[in-house]
Amino acid sequence: MYKINEIFYSLQGEGFHSGTPAVFVRFSGCNLRCHFCDTQHQDGTMMSLQEIVDEINKYPDASLLVLTGGEPSLFIDEAFVAELKQKTGKTIAIETNGTRPLPSNLDWVTLSPKTAFEGGDAAPCVVKRCNELKVVFLGQDLAQYDDIEAKSRFLQPCFCEDEKQCQANMKACVEAVKSHPVWRLSLQIHRVLNIP
Ligand code: SF4
Repeated sequence: MYKINEIFYSLQGEGFHSGTPAVFVRFSGCNLRCHFCDTQHQDGTMMSLQEIVDEINKYPDASLLVLTGGEPSLFIDEAFVAELKQKTGKTIAIETNGTRPLPSNLDWVTLSPKTAFEGGDAAPCVVKRCNELKVVFLGQDLAQYDDIEAKSRFLQPCFCEDEKQCQANMKACVEAVKSHPVWRLSLQIHRVLNIP
């Protein structure tokens, strides 16, 4: 059984697949406690793999399935990914903080290390290869990510409730991308569009 926070169909709001329709499976629970985290770590419903598959298959139009959290790598293995692939026919992507080894049969890895932040530094990032590296930017030194192999690198402003602070984070992120052009800007378009 798996503790699932929610399963829903929306658009990927961030990074390489931004704007792409996707089904999201949000696992409940994380091994880190980043100070800016907006995930409800305790909420969730216990579901079997078949129940998860049945819920995903209510959305046959989406070809992309995103495992997110919380930290999904705490709960999944290769057998889980293989079963999802076979029973949904979708491309299986994961969003991970990189603190745990990943199943080798995932189709897409979005690595979002949190080691630079208070509460996110409780475990080292052990994943060093990914399809996309997506980093929340709060002014940290970007050289710390140089040893991570990634086809695309995205910097994302840290969202916060304070509008002025949010604008300042955005500006700092834009300037960081301009001075480090190997990175590209990623915005959380689901927040702009006010969709889940
Ligand atoms: S790694 Fe992600 S889910 Fe876990 S505490 Fe940090 S922001 Fe929240």
